[in-house]
Amino acid sequence: MNKNITETADLVLTNAVVYTVDNDKSTAEAVAVAGGRIMAVGSAISITAYIGADTEVIDLGGKLVMPAFVDTHMHPAKSAVDYLFGIQLRGVFTRSEYLEKIREFVEQHPDLEFYEGSGFMRSVFDETGPRKEDLDVIAADKPISIFSVDGHSIWANSKALKMAGITKETPDPPGGLIKKDPLTGEPSGLLSESARWPVMELFPEPTKEQYKESLLWLQKWFNSQGLTTCHDAIVKFEPDYYGAYEELAREGRLTVRYRGSWLVTPEVVGGGDGQPEDFVPEMSIDEFIAKGIKLSDSFRTPYWQIKSFKFFADQVIEEETGFLKEPYLHRNDGWYGIKVWRQDALNEAFRKVDAAGFNIHTHQIGDAAAAYALDALEYARTVNGPRDSRHTFAHVQMIEKDDIKRMADMGMNAIIAPYWSVIDDYYWELYYPYLGAERAYMGQYPAAGLMEAGINTSIHSDFSVTEPDFGSAIYSAVTRTQTEKVFRQEKGERADSFIRTTDYSGNPEPGMAVPLGPEEECLTPAQAVEASTINGAWAEYLEKDLGSIEAGKLADIIVLDRNLFEIDIEEVPEMKVLMTFFEGRKVYSAE
Ligand SMILES: [Zn+2]
Repeated sequence: MNKNITETADLVLTNAVVYTVDNDKSTAEAVAVAGGRIMAVGSAISITAYIGADTEVIDLGGKLVMPAFVDTHMHPAKSAVDYLFGIQLRGVFTRSEYLEKIREFVEQHPDLEFYEGSGFMRSVFDETGPRKEDLDVIAADKPISIFSVDGHSIWANSKALKMAGITKETPDPPGGLIKKDPLTGEPSGLLSESARWPVMELFPEPTKEQYKESLLWLQKWFNSQGLTTCHDAIVKFEPDYYGAYEELAREGRLTVRYRGSWLVTPEVVGGGDGQPEDFVPEMSIDEFIAKGIKLSDSFRTPYWQIKSFKFFADQVIEEETGFLKEPYLHRNDGWYGIKVWRQDALNEAFRKVDAAGFNIHTHQIGDAAAAYALDALEYARTVNGPRDSRHTFAHVQMIEKDDIKRMADMGMNAIIAPYWSVIDDYYWELYYPYLGAERAYMGQYPAAGLMEAGINTSIHSDFSVTEPDFGSAIYSAVTRTQTEKVFRQEKGERADSFIRTTDYSGNPEPGMAVPLGPEEECLTPAQAVEASTINGAWAEYLEKDLGSIEAGKLADIIVLDRNLFEIDIEEVPEMKVLMTFFEGRKVYSAE
């Protein structure tokens, strides 16, 4: 009776190891939660003071409790629709299995006018890529289009190419590549980057209801992975797309809070490198920014907000479209990849977004892309003056040390995917021949270098490029090696003829699954956890509310089945989430 009722918790998690991710990296035994926020963190005895008649008390028997995970760059609504309504090639890894899955889908959906899918691995095919003829055998009279796993290219059949008007004579568009058969000169069926669009435009957009259904399906999966905050890195001015998030947020149905970025491309606003002088943009960059801000202002919910604009500085190395300082080595034509923007246009676009107080979220893969995007960011900062802008590079596959310093000097975010900093089939089939042994092994995916330069570094899956799984992310951040499970999936029957090791002492021989160099880029488990939690919160301007277990913050909390700091590293990918709380509400339970 000596306690004020407002001091009574709705929920107490006790008898746990609470890894708080606060500034002191402190641990505790119990957490009290009320009204969706954390009231107190401390010893089990101290927290008993918050237990009232209506308090739910969960005794965790010594399990690990952590802040819920944050994923700072992914494509949730688009990908979830692909999973629910399209041909899904993830989970199989050979040409014949791909064709079997496509044939099966087409046979099960004879009434569809268009067949769309996703998930093929570029490494399964040679440089010319997958072939249209393989798809023509399955359906010759209806268009088929399948996205690669990273979304940067599509595999189309002859009907789709014909409808899109792509022939032997069609030149590569600015910012894109049409793969041609080296003997006949005919389009092979692989279109990358901007060359995809004429085919993509043939396919009908999903409806708002389809997006909503997909997001509701997806959040159950994400919650089961301990994920409660995600960033949609490509939002276009499509009312059904952003409207799906907005309606779910207003209806109070989201158990993942989403942030997003408006995608700005030279095809819409002009300013593309190599774009014809007489190109007429759909709207000016000023009109684009004004429209984005106006729409952002209309989303007045904590669960769906857009505070950034997304730019591509370049594309991806596997499609020869990442922009490099030194040329691609497998070709003999001095090819450096694709620079998406003209410098002057990018300077002005960044200056305007920065002046509007918005975040600049840039896709950056190649070292040359980092350099010219940093020039543009520095230009914006010089003209506008410094502010707490937190501009972002997503992916950061290759970057020179001096440019890491420039990122640090500007207080930028780096978003990394530890899932990719490994030696896998992409490495041996694509990065190794394209970049050469030295650049491929020593020059990719700095992680410790970014963190130790003082750059706020957070983790992303780029879903559906990779399916979020923080046990695997932490494992690969710490070892720079594929998990046993992913290795076995990818290699299939070939697995037993390979050596897989996390030991750095041997030299990487083609085909081996050894750790990616350099060894000093490995993170510690504690760094990997910070990158998955508090640093993600900072990247989303949410560090006052999320990312650590501290009094006053939102109660986004997970319980894990084992203590990742105490188990053998090989066990970390096996780690399971037992419970996920979203603002104090249990949204997932393993039982
Ligand atoms: Zn992405």
